[in-house]
Amino acid sequence: MGSGRYPGLAVDLGKLRHNIDMVKRACDDNGVEIAGVIKGCTGLTECARQFAEAGCRFIASSRLEQLEHLRENGIATPLMMIRVPMLSEAADVVRITDISLNSEIEVLRALNEEAGKQDRKHQVILMADLGDLREGFWDREEITEAALITERELQNLELAGVGTNLGCYGAVAATAEKLNELVACAEDIESRIGRKLEFISGGATSSLPRILEGDLPPRINMLRLGEGILLAADLQELWGYDMSFLHKDVFTLRAEVIEVKDKPSHPVGEIMFDAFGNRPVYEDRGIRKRALIAVGKVDYAFCEDLVPADKGVVVLGASSDHTILDIQDAERDIKVGDILEFRPHYSNLVYLSSSPNVEIVYI
Ligand SMILES: *Cc1c(COP(=O)(O)O)cnc(C)c1O
Repeated sequence: MGSGRYPGLAVDLGKLRHNIDMVKRACDDNGVEIAGVIKGCTGLTECARQFAEAGCRFIASSRLEQLEHLRENGIATPLMMIRVPMLSEAADVVRITDISLNSEIEVLRALNEEAGKQDRKHQVILMADLGDLREGFWDREEITEAALITERELQNLELAGVGTNLGCYGAVAATAEKLNELVACAEDIESRIGRKLEFISGGATSSLPRILEGDLPPRINMLRLGEGILLAADLQELWGYDMSFLHKDVFTLRAEVIEVKDKPSHPVGEIMFDAFGNRPVYEDRGIRKRALIAVGKVDYAFCEDLVPADKGVVVLGASSDHTILDIQDAERDIKVGDILEFRPHYSNLVYLSSSPNVEIVYI
């Protein structure tokens, strides 16, 4: 249960499991398997275990160290490397993981060679860039060619399928039309290799709307899901979907109040630079009741993304180790020593879950 040190990150494993089960049920109904993406919480083993116990087909991360840690801690679910591998980590990709996403023939050849040395089979999914402009083959001929080479020459690899990623860099929506392009790409490859591909991996949380709206192309049979299960925030807050069937508070930041005082809302003196070299502008709202809590940007990076659990509490700003709150309109009386709670966003969670200063508490 933890030693009651603050700041803390409370992780409600029961709520996480609920979210996984609900999303998995919807995916099952659509013939879609889940790669549970745990990079958002820095690969916390206990979170990964929930994905494993819920029966997700893969557990996935962008970082090999996280996947290796899971293997060492007895997670038996097949592991997926979702950031296209560095050439220099080919041996570790083969040693640690079962399947990886790829976009370079040179890396595929290196994986093949390493798989041969280690006497292992390694599955690969070839990534098609459909316009989001992050990873993936751009040229349709080039991906087909890479598929043919993998199938015919790279004997230690198994061409498991094709995939795409949308809505990460280019903010391109995963429409049915985009995903049909991926299916067409897969079918092109299938006609050339003379067999069906096992997986057509249709993206991340940003592809979940296709399941919610019932227009996922039938041949898409895998999604790689992180945020939509861990936090369930973006589809509700940005896209306006009703995600009330999922818990939004799997993760809670807890921090202790170290100062409560009435102070002016506008700094007093000549305004120059803050702790990060910025020259900020402050609104003068007169004297306000403020609280300081003992947690800062070192722990969560972006204070504007924290959502206070207490009504009327407003995050004004932060430096490395302090967060400054306006508590003038808080519904309860906040005192030194009180513990305040906040809901982190994805941008906060990766820092909170990996900070040595933040105690992780499972509830
Ligand atoms: C991070 C990532 C995912 C998961 O994204 P979410 O938005 O957290 O669901 C899936 N695929 C790839 C390639 C990723 O990098």
